[in-house]
Amino acid sequence: MSPFSLMQTLGHQQVVFCHDEAVGLKAIIAIHDTTLGPALGGVRFWAYASEEEALVDVLRLSRGMTYKAAVSGLNLGGGKAVIIGNPLQIKSEALLRRFGQFVESLGGRYITAEDMGVSVRDMEYIRMETAYVTGLPEEMGGSGDPSPVTAYGVYLGMKAAWKKLTGTDALKGVKVLVQGLGKVGMALVENLHKESAVIYATDLSAAQLERAQAQYNIHPVSPDAWYAHPVDILAPCARGGILNQDTIPHLRCAVIAGSANNQLADEKADSYRLADRGILYAPDFLINAGGLINVYTELEGYSRPRALARTEYIYEATLRVFSTAEQRGVSPHEAAMQLAEERIRAISTLRTRTSQLNLSLSIA
Ligand code: NAD
Repeated sequence: MSPFSLMQTLGHQQVVFCHDEAVGLKAIIAIHDTTLGPALGGVRFWAYASEEEALVDVLRLSRGMTYKAAVSGLNLGGGKAVIIGNPLQIKSEALLRRFGQFVESLGGRYITAEDMGVSVRDMEYIRMETAYVTGLPEEMGGSGDPSPVTAYGVYLGMKAAWKKLTGTDALKGVKVLVQGLGKVGMALVENLHKESAVIYATDLSAAQLERAQAQYNIHPVSPDAWYAHPVDILAPCARGGILNQDTIPHLRCAVIAGSANNQLADEKADSYRLADRGILYAPDFLINAGGLINVYTELEGYSRPRALARTEYIYEATLRVFSTAEQRGVSPHEAAMQLAEERIRAISTLRTRTSQLNLSLSIA
C-alpha cells in the first residue's frame, strides 16, 4: 500500500518524513487527528526491518493514541514518532537534537515523549531544541515515572469491571492473577494488597516474584499457561497479543483488566471471542490511560494529586463502556472505539458551528 493509501485507510492528517544524512537521522512523525488537541505520543527508536515496517508502526501507534486520548476525556490528539535504526549503533546527541528541531518545526501540533529505545538522557537532548516534550523526569521539572498512575487507573478499571459483574467493586478476597511484575504490575499488586485481594502473579524474573512474595504475600504461578490458572480476574501487565485464538479457549476467569498495550491479537475477532465465552474485558487502551493522563497533567504544570484525581475518571468511563456495549450489542472494545469516535465527531461539529457563528457575527 502507498503511504497515502495507508493514511487514507487509517484516517491520518499529516505524516512528516524527517531526514538529515549528516547526523544519520531518518524519522517519521505521524499526526493522526488533532480535533481534540495537539497530537501527543512517544518517539520510538527501533531497528525496523524496512522503512515500510516503520511507517506502518508509526501510523498504527499514532491512531491508537487518538482513541486512547478521546475515550479518556483528554483534550489531546493522537501522534507518534519513530526514529529508524539501531539506537546502539547510530544514536548521538546531534541526531536527537536534529529530531527535536523537526518536532519544533511543527509548532506544537505534535508533542513528543519517551518510548522504546529512548532514555531520559535522550529526552534531555530533544528538549534542548524544542519545548514540545512531555513525560520528563522529576529533576527536569517533569512528571517522572508514570507507572504508579497507570497502575491506579488499571486498578479502578478492574474495580469497575468487578462492579459490573457482581454489583460490588470491593476486591477483598477476590482472586486476581497479575502477569508481569514490572513497574505497573508491582504498583497494581500494591493497590490490590491494600484491599486484601488474593493475589497470584507470574513473571519471567524469579527475583521479581520473590520480591512480590516477600512484600505482598503473592502466590507465584509459572509463566507457562498462566492464563489457564483459575481465578476471578486476570491482569495482563507484561506484553501484547496474549489474548488470541489459542489462549482464549483456555481462560478460566470472569474478568480481564490489565495494563499491557494491545492485549487482543486480533482486536475485533478476539474481543468477540471473549464476549462469547462470557468473559468481561476492560479495554486496555482505556484502563491503562493513566500514563497519558499523567503527561497531559504535566503540560499544565504537574501535580501528582491532580493526575491521580483525573485518573479516577477511568472508573466511570469503564462502566459507561460496559453499558454502551450492552445497549448496542457490541463488545466492550468496540464500544470504547465507538465512544472515542463519537466524542471526536461531536467536538468537531461544535468547532464548525462555533466558527460559523463567529463568522456570521463578524459579518453582521
Ligand atoms: P516493565 O518492563 O517494567 O515490566 C514488564 C514485566 O513483565 C517485567 O517484570 C518482565 O519480566 C515481565 N514479563 C515480560 N514477559 C513476560 C512473560 N512472558 N511472562 C511473565 N512476565 C513477563 O513494563 P511496565 O512499564 O510495567 O509496562 C507493562 C505493560 O503495560 C507494557 O505492555 C506497557 O506497554 C504497558 N503500559 C505501561 C504504562 C506505564 O506507565 N509504564 C502505560 C501504559 C501501558
